[in-house]
Amino acid sequence: MYIDNPIQTYTYEKMTSDIHQLSQTYPEIIDYHSIGQTKYGRDLWAVKLGNGDATVFINGSHHAREWITTTLNMKMIQQYASAYYRNQSFKNYNVRNLLNEVAIWFVPMVNPDGVTLQQKGLNALPKDIHNQVLQMNNGSYDFTRWKANASGIDLNRNYPADWPNITGDYSEPRWSNHKGEEPFSAIEAQLIRDFTYEIDPEMAFAYHTTGQVLYWHHHYDSNQYDRDKRLAETISNYTGYRIIPPTDEPGGGTYTDWFIQEYKRPAFTVELNPHLYRRHVPVENFPSIWKRNNAVPLYSAQESYKMWLNRQPTHAVDEKVYLIDQTQLYKHPMGRATGSALSPQAVSVTAKKGNWLQINTWAGGLWIQDSLAKASPKKEVNERITLEYKAALHTIPTEYSKATSYLSPQTVNAVAKWEDWYLIKTWMGEYWVKK
Ligand SMILES: [Zn+2]
Repeated sequence: MYIDNPIQTYTYEKMTSDIHQLSQTYPEIIDYHSIGQTKYGRDLWAVKLGNGDATVFINGSHHAREWITTTLNMKMIQQYASAYYRNQSFKNYNVRNLLNEVAIWFVPMVNPDGVTLQQKGLNALPKDIHNQVLQMNNGSYDFTRWKANASGIDLNRNYPADWPNITGDYSEPRWSNHKGEEPFSAIEAQLIRDFTYEIDPEMAFAYHTTGQVLYWHHHYDSNQYDRDKRLAETISNYTGYRIIPPTDEPGGGTYTDWFIQEYKRPAFTVELNPHLYRRHVPVENFPSIWKRNNAVPLYSAQESYKMWLNRQPTHAVDEKVYLIDQTQLYKHPMGRATGSALSPQAVSVTAKKGNWLQINTWAGGLWIQDSLAKASPKKEVNERITLEYKAALHTIPTEYSKATSYLSPQTVNAVAKWEDWYLIKTWMGEYWVKK
């Protein structure tokens, strides 16, 4: 995989190939699809890392010359997926638990036309627009400074947040600082908007490269102010990047400004590198960027999960789940563990909140976490299945439980399924068999 060596010019083609390979190497935890194409036929790839219902959104390369942010996104995906498979912690975060609770979505390259133009020059684009593009670059064939998309729109000035008041705008399409004819005039910004609505993230990160600073604020009320300031301070502690005070708030039009305005949830523009004059970050800087930033998505996944869970209603249910392992009991969802655990058994669920289940115990209603118990039948089915050999009947779907009885080869009705276990109806009652 190209991302094994992040100290190289990381192109759209390398990223596309790596995304495909990562999803084949880590299929349990990585999924991806195209959220749409640019004007010149390049895909905006979205990569999903994790299986939880709470979501975080991370993106890179809104600005063409800032493509080291794509390298960073891809390295994060690779390293977290690897830690998940090895069941290793990463910077003291339990990656497996976190990624079972949360899905981190990445769009590592928002502006693939611009990135390719910046890296490879005019050949990145069809001949018939070369003159136009040269004009946007003041006639120069050197595209090192290019930030915009291929139509000369600065994507991080194209979002409708305080858009009319953006300062330093150029009215004509240009290599940078042209905000477009109207908000969302760029297809890339439209695709990111629609994708954001689709995944409904708790928190968002847009990676950029100028100044080693952290933007976190856009016209707040006080409630969000305290919450987001605390998050910003922790991220600043991890990265060493300076927090931009609200009084120095820049012009607007950015993705994170729009996200904060739209959702009233936290979003951060992270600027990875000291200021450079009109060029990309040298690839040699990657190791230090990696070190500063590699824990931040896991921290935000943890915080996003809490925010998500807080928003979930508690509702009464009447269900049975099967604990297939020792399962910790909690007084409240996300609260402290009581110190007692239940052994594998079937239990009755009386209420649900997010992925937490309230069950009746001798000590009253206590809570367990579904994703850790791995216990509920994941789906109800109505299937005829054929037992080809004598089948062991279990009261809970694990081979650690003692078989209650056996069935000779025959065809039976299955009513639920969990991994490769089926809950079947027999004349003796319902039992689990492994298929
Ligand atoms: Zn930028």
